[in-house]
Amino acid sequence: MTTLLHVIQRVRNRQTDDEHWLYIAGDAADLTLDTEADLGCPEFDEDTDEEIDPPGFPERGLRSTIDVDTLSHSIEWADRLSGTKDDSAALDLIRYYIRFDALPETLNVSDPPSVDVVLRRLDREFSDKLGPEDSSKQCRRDGCERGVVKLSVFCRRHHFENIRNRPYPFDD
Ligand SMILES: [Zn+2]
Repeated sequence: MTTLLHVIQRVRNRQTDDEHWLYIAGDAADLTLDTEADLGCPEFDEDTDEEIDPPGFPERGLRSTIDVDTLSHSIEWADRLSGTKDDSAALDLIRYYIRFDALPETLNVSDPPSVDVVLRRLDREFSDKLGPEDSSKQCRRDGCERGVVKLSVFCRRHHFENIRNRPYPFDD
C-alpha cells in the first residue's frame, strides 16, 4: 500500500501530475505518515458533472482532499517553517490544510476555535456590553421579574432573545 509518506516523497521528487489530487483513507484528523494515501486524477461525468474517483480508489477507502498544488505548497511551507525537510512538519500542515482550509503561521499550532466557540464568545461580548440590569424598571416580557438593560424595555436575557431571535445561551 502507498502511504502519505510515499506521497510526500513523490511531491518532493516532483513525480506528480498537474491534475493530481491527494486521496487519503479515513478521517483527516487521524492522518499520519503511515495512513494509506495516493495521488490520482478524478474524472467528471459528462452528463451529471459528478466526480468519479480513479479506478480502485473507492475500494481502498480513499477520498479526495486537496489538489497537488495545495499539497506541494503545504510541504514547501512546512520546509520553510522547520528550516529543513521534515516530513512530520509536512504531515502537520497537510492535516491542518485538509481540516481547516488554511495554512497556520507556525508549526505545532492547536486547532482553531470551532464556529460554536466563536459564536459563544461573540454572544458573551454582546450580552456583557448591555451592562447591568436596572431593577427600578421591570422587564416587559410576561412573567419576567428582572430589571431592564440600558436603552431596552427588556432584561438582558429577553433583550438578547428579542434581537438575536434565538434562546439566550447563558445562565446569568
Ligand atoms: Zn426579562
